Amino acid sequence: KEFRNKVKPNWCPGCGDFSVLAAMQRAFANLGKEPEDVAIVSGIGCSGRISGYVNAYGFHGVHGRSLPIAQGLKLANRDLTVVASGGDGDGFAIGMAHTIHAIRRNVDITYIVMDNQVYGLTKGQTSPRSEMGFKTKSTPAGSIEAAIAPMEMALTVGAGFVAQSVSSDLKGLTHIIEEGIKHKGFSLINVYSPCVTYNKINTYDWFKENLVSLADDENYDPSNRSQAMQKLMEHNGLVTGIIYQNKERPSYEELVPGFKEQPLTDQDLQLNEEQFDQLLKEFA
Ligand code: SF4
Ligand code: MG
Repeated sequence: KEFRNKVKPNWCPGCGDFSVLAAMQRAFANLGKEPEDVAIVSGIGCSGRISGYVNAYGFHGVHGRSLPIAQGLKLANRDLTVVASGGDGDGFAIGMAHTIHAIRRNVDITYIVMDNQVYGLTKGQTSPRSEMGFKTKSTPAGSIEAAIAPMEMALTVGAGFVAQSVSSDLKGLTHIIEEGIKHKGFSLINVYSPCVTYNKINTYDWFKENLVSLADDENYDPSNRSQAMQKLMEHNGLVTGIIYQNKERPSYEELVPGFKEQPLTDQDLQLNEEQFDQLLKEFA
């Protein structure tokens, strides 16, 4: 299955987003998907361009709004594999309310955040994921705000699948995306995806030194929520792997009465032409 298209990404050479793109394409192929089975919805930011680089349905939406569109798509056609994607600014600043409510709603979609801890597209300002003290044009004396902890946040609002990876680990990232797609419900995957142009602190080398892999800990049990929280707090969020998974929690779709029988796109409207025109008028 060919998920690559002919569009050449205009990311800077070395940008972490290239690996996320490659991992996504591999994951779809490994899961036996066809391009027409997959829809990618993205927000605004360097990473938001990803929806145009995959040979599948793509929707490049507005800033911070990939999740409402992705959830609507999935509810209208639950046969689609829907992946929402974007940057840390898109998902954890302007789009944060959608992120929180999408997690607690639990529609069966996968959300991949390319987290470079900076605003890249607007040329390097402090983002909600920048650490305190981080110096940019918008915080020349260093950031005086605390960074958001997305994995801990997701655990507290009832997430069923919480995972983290890094662009330099293509194999691990591909595996996590596959598991996220297979998970029945909302999956949040935060990917440390270095911005080689505007973030000179959180570099590939920095992550190599600071990230702790859960795959190396054979006693780690991803179904244990308090252990997940403890692990994150112990390492200041710098862990990779499937941090938490609750396989028991039903998805939103499973709990909507009558939804399971047929996707909305296949359901008969049960309206004649006149009734349909009347309905359109009501919404005009
Ligand atoms: Fe990637 Fe940063 Fe370049 Fe944007 S500015 S393409 S995030 S390296
Ligand atoms: Mg960013």
